Amino acid sequence: MRFFSYCNSCREEVKIKSMATSRVDMVKDHGEMINYNCDKCGSSDKKHLNDVKARISYLPIIISIVIAIMVTMILWNFVYAVSTLSILIPIFAYQQQSNDVNGFNRYRI
Ligand SMILES: [Zn+2]
Repeated sequence: MRFFSYCNSCREEVKIKSMATSRVDMVKDHGEMINYNCDKCGSSDKKHLNDVKARISYLPIIISIVIAIMVTMILWNFVYAVSTLSILIPIFAYQQQSNDVNGFNRYRI
């Protein structure tokens, strides 16, 4: 999950750095206000966590696809039927991301 908000000065989108998996986690880690640095205008300011939004991060999904391919190749010669089930790994990874993003964006503190 990746987090973003909008710069108070120039209204451009800014990345919010956090490892949180929910808004509750984010409050525990950062308090109700989170710092950001704007790449466009260079300003540093704070945003209320309710102004932070989440979107899907594709990196964990890409990693899960790589894992799925490796699992498929390892199992291919042994249990052909099982090896094709590894396609479910990226699907689960995507669903997990999607659920986390929806949960984060719905919940307000
Ligand atoms: Zn800015």
